[in-house]
Amino acid sequence: MTTHPETRAVRVGAPEPGSRPVSVPIHQTAIYAFDGPADVGAAMSGPDGAFSYSGYGNPTVRAFEDAMTALEGGAAALATGSGSSATSSVLLAALRTGDHVIAQRALYGGTYAALQDLAANWGVEVTYVEGADPAELADALRPNSRLLLLETIANPTGFVPDLPGLLGVARSAGLTTVVDNTFATPLLCRPIEHGADVVVHSATKYLGGHHDVVGGVAVFADAGRYRETWARATRLGTVADPFSAWLVLRGIKTLALRVRRQCETAGYLAERLAGHPAVTAVHHPGLPSHPSHARAARLLDGYGGTLAFDLAGGLEAAHAFMGGLRLVLNAGSLGGTETVTMHPATTSHRHLDDDALAAAGIGPGTVRIACGIEHPDDLWADISRALR
Ligand SMILES: *Cc1c(COP(=O)(O)O)cnc(C)c1O
Repeated sequence: MTTHPETRAVRVGAPEPGSRPVSVPIHQTAIYAFDGPADVGAAMSGPDGAFSYSGYGNPTVRAFEDAMTALEGGAAALATGSGSSATSSVLLAALRTGDHVIAQRALYGGTYAALQDLAANWGVEVTYVEGADPAELADALRPNSRLLLLETIANPTGFVPDLPGLLGVARSAGLTTVVDNTFATPLLCRPIEHGADVVVHSATKYLGGHHDVVGGVAVFADAGRYRETWARATRLGTVADPFSAWLVLRGIKTLALRVRRQCETAGYLAERLAGHPAVTAVHHPGLPSHPSHARAARLLDGYGGTLAFDLAGGLEAAHAFMGGLRLVLNAGSLGGTETVTMHPATTSHRHLDDDALAAAGIGPGTVRIACGIEHPDDLWADISRALR
């Protein structure tokens, strides 16, 4: 067909390479074209057919989802625009008004805020448990209990729940179990192996690993639950974009190398800080003195790359210390190549009132450090100088 320049300008075909790219290509397209109209409706109505619209599925995003399915040992995964949207998609797909949620008390601040919102505005009841003892969960169960929400390693105190014990009680009671595995990554723990139904991640953290992308993912033990959540998530529009998925895929290639180094550095800094006179407590599950140490040793293949510690001088001392750092960055988030510090009480946990803060083990002098991959001696030199 002979066409005009205007038409030729927009109708550019992609070359057929005749061999396979080693890196997953970025499929930067919003829509897919079909040979005729008959197949389009079928493609749009579920996650398994041909790609039709990148809000429903995209090959680069699918490659990220497949990588996470394989890493966590699930049946399927759903990528989302952020960790928060992974959690909220899972909650909104699983819960109805009148349901009861049981959650771990030491919870990511944004998840806590989402649960408070569900309780205040959507008729969902929420109970918090410490999570060290399965009997505590058994006592908290009600006839309308629907979902248990846990974190493998809690922020910032490094609390580790009795994951196998709690998941066992929840399963016997017919609850849907959701574990936020952001801090552990699938290198240190795979909650589905312990009986979890859904694992969520903020891919913004260790999976992406370079502080350059915001993303999330939910991995499902069961394909049916994945399909239900996909339907809810596409209605909510929690879509992941192909370039973000590509960045996370790129990050995942070095996940094991980075996480090993980050765990080693966190252990090293925790020991150094524990011996420092200005520090009243160090929170890292790798320390034998940590209340979760025995559970962490049984459950995890490493104790995580973050730690927190308390300064005797409270908020003033914490801010003075953080302001004195030169190498360690004052920044939110964690899990990237650069070491960052933040003050939980005034940032990530600002949604919590004083009682909830105290229950989460966070004081005005609590400082969190999330290790990157710099040389540990350079980090300790910066930290010990700022402590002086
Ligand atoms: C950061 C974080 C989230 C939220 O993820 P975003 O990508 O920032 O939306 C959820 N859970 C945990 C444990 C986190 O650290």
